[in-house]
Amino acid sequence: MIFLDSAATTPVRREVLEAMWPLLTGDFGNPSSHHELGESAKRALDGARKSVAAVIGCRASDVVFTSGGTESDNLAIKGLALAEPRGRHIVTSAIEHEAVLESVDYLRRIHGFEVTVLPVDSAGLVDVQQAREALRPDTTLCTIMYANNEVGVVQPIAAIAALCRELAIPMHTDAVQAAGWLPLNIAELGVDALSLSGHKLGAPKGIGVLIVKGRRGLEPVLHGGGQERGKRSGTENVAGAVGFAHALTLAESDRVDRAERTTQLRNEFVADVLTRVPQAIYTGPTDAAESRRLPNNASFCFPGTSGESLLLELGRAGIICSAGSACAVGSDEVSHVLSALGIDDAIAQTAVRFSLSADTTAEQLQAVAAEIETAYRAVGSLSG
Ligand code: PLP
Repeated sequence: MIFLDSAATTPVRREVLEAMWPLLTGDFGNPSSHHELGESAKRALDGARKSVAAVIGCRASDVVFTSGGTESDNLAIKGLALAEPRGRHIVTSAIEHEAVLESVDYLRRIHGFEVTVLPVDSAGLVDVQQAREALRPDTTLCTIMYANNEVGVVQPIAAIAALCRELAIPMHTDAVQAAGWLPLNIAELGVDALSLSGHKLGAPKGIGVLIVKGRRGLEPVLHGGGQERGKRSGTENVAGAVGFAHALTLAESDRVDRAERTTQLRNEFVADVLTRVPQAIYTGPTDAAESRRLPNNASFCFPGTSGESLLLELGRAGIICSAGSACAVGSDEVSHVLSALGIDDAIAQTAVRFSLSADTTAEQLQAVAAEIETAYRAVGSLSG
């Protein structure tokens, strides 16, 4: 099997599982319990919080453990917007993940917020000048993703955050796909809040983090026992938090080298695919501006085929990839991301996303490119 769907999820790293194991077995206490077992769990949780804070460059008290990227986005958006007294206007982009778009839509429907959705250009980029024009004195929150899950475009977060700072508007970024590939230092990004998800990083599913700067008010979404400084009630997933911290630290330790190596492999792969299938369209940022694209993303449309049929053909050859994004359950709809890039529906139905991991090799990618050519011929002749 060749797994090229790392943007959907990743396997748990052995070191991560080993770090988690004691907390799932002997050292299984509840961090709120006032006995040795509870205190030991609390120490483990505090340690994990400090490790995450060290990678992000924030205070340990800014780290809120959640159940994953979706919860982090929900908490950031609802929590920051509802706590902010300055108004009821939100700025976001057209290519956000559903966890962001649906949270924003909830605020619109239920709480009467007004929403400005920034368009993107044909590469998927938000225009900083358009962002500047969208921000208003009553803007409560600006939420723009760091890197997109379908086409890998990396947004100019620091520039948009600087605009928000001038107007004292809280800024959140969904950094779920960026983690492990791009710098996450919160001071350099200049944002107030940042969402992360464990299972994209070699930690298990069901653990995530929201970083939210202490000076910002945050209305909780989950009410209960007041864990996580009242920001997220519920008995903490101690083993998950320890696993997350371990995975994030490991990913950060070799991030720069890995990103460089993967960018090169990805570029060779893209060139190979476009040579073998000249009709293919490389979607997202295509020019030399590699820094505007996640190192591990290669997404294409293959006009004259269907993305689903290509996936089946590639699957028969043991290649696992995705027809766009795996994040929306059973969705047959055309991707809102590709539509926002100006790709018409018929072409968008032919999208296939390949997302590399640190373990992907040049030999694997050569084999995949050859299989893409074969699959394209097979599916294209059927559809044509
Ligand atoms: N945000 C982005 C950009 C994603 O790609 C995903 C998942 O694919 C999420 C949020 C949701 O994360 P989770 O699966 O941890 O809920």
